[in-house]
Amino acid sequence: MPLETPVNAWCQSHPLITELVGLRPTRWFNPALAPSAQALADVPLSSQDVREASERLQRFAPFIESAFPETSASAGIIESPLLPLQAMQALLQAEYQLPEGGALWLKADNLLPISGSIKARGGIYEVLKHAEDLALAGGLLQPGDDYATLDSDTARAFFSQYSIAVGSTGNLGLSIGIISARLGFKATVHMSADARQWKKDRLRAHGVEVREYSADYSVAVEQGRREAEADPLCHFVDDENSRNLFLGYAVAAERLQRQLQAQGIEVDAEHPLFVYLPCGVGGGPGGVAFGLKLVFGDAVHCVFAEPTHSPCMFLGVYTGLHDQVSVYDFGIDNQTAADGLAVGRPSGFVGRAMQRLIDGYYTVDDATLYRQLAQLHASEGYALEPSALAGMPGIVEVLQEQQGYRQRLGLTAAHMARATHLVWGTGGSMVPTAEMEAYLRQGRSLLAGD
Ligand SMILES: *Cc1c(COP(=O)(O)O)cnc(C)c1O
Repeated sequence: MPLETPVNAWCQSHPLITELVGLRPTRWFNPALAPSAQALADVPLSSQDVREASERLQRFAPFIESAFPETSASAGIIESPLLPLQAMQALLQAEYQLPEGGALWLKADNLLPISGSIKARGGIYEVLKHAEDLALAGGLLQPGDDYATLDSDTARAFFSQYSIAVGSTGNLGLSIGIISARLGFKATVHMSADARQWKKDRLRAHGVEVREYSADYSVAVEQGRREAEADPLCHFVDDENSRNLFLGYAVAAERLQRQLQAQGIEVDAEHPLFVYLPCGVGGGPGGVAFGLKLVFGDAVHCVFAEPTHSPCMFLGVYTGLHDQVSVYDFGIDNQTAADGLAVGRPSGFVGRAMQRLIDGYYTVDDATLYRQLAQLHASEGYALEPSALAGMPGIVEVLQEQQGYRQRLGLTAAHMARATHLVWGTGGSMVPTAEMEAYLRQGRSLLAGD
């Protein structure tokens, strides 16, 4: 739908829109940020919901361990490591002349088992929840059963009566497709034009039906939604609105809390935690941020990162138009190397529920994603996909901001010196070697040209 107010009028009333439309890296710290004790009431979900999601994942752990032996080390719990980034931090400090500002860490969701991205949290959780609902209603499971029995021909025959559909830029499709097919569901993934060929190939190898679109993510989602609505036995995974997807992501926070404790890292008013989350439609970062706010309250500061060509959540929250606006309305093209973040219209559910809980938003250009991809690989040996680097400049955004954000929150230099900065590394381990080599070459050549 067209904007009711012309773009130049928006630029007058909201000056950062000029920057966004000019595709310049832009930061905005949220003046509506509120104490979590108040703002958590905006979210139509509770800590009880997150606890139930966590318990459900625990119930499914024997199935996951049986079906995906790569999860045996964690007994069927799908989790990623927390890794220090000392060498990468030194590179950033030198390049950006950063003041002392605490320690940089990586939450390595690129290493999540089964699908190698943050979607192995929300996407897989939603399919498991649906499978449990069907199995309990259909008498395949009784409360208290060992869910390892779901890895059986009987269970697969039961689930094969049902189908699951999703629209995706790639990684969500990969997660939903793999877990659905393994349970026995018929799975259809509607892939946007941004989706990489290898993701489609891999899904087809798992027996998943892949539909390809020459249009963007929103079109793929709409088509998937329409087809699923016509079939009462089909469950559509609604990336833009799903509460279950959101809850699956939120469980990450209690796990992170244990990992931080194991490292002796304190998080409280004197020891702030900054978390930089790459944002596409918003469900992943929104769900994780919700979980973090429940666990750490006002001691955690969540910042969303988007490509300069796809700043949909930034625009949606900054204008207050949420899902009533797309980047195209502002003449922004949604063309980015960060395929996982190539989303033109944000989730209205996440934008509204989280608008007083997110500290800030910034955009990053593709060249920076590629450069930092190569720097991270050279300094630490980690291989992330371009989307997953969006959180890396977050420490620079926060330490260099002059918008009065830290001052407003009473975050002094002493607080910052005790801070922990966490980059959410959202994907990468499934990227084929040749593809990763091409990413690295691109990054190295940009670094050489600097
Ligand atoms: C999907 C994805 C994100 C963002 O998640 P949304 O729920 O779309 O906001 C970030 N990074 C990667 C690699 C992704 O695949």
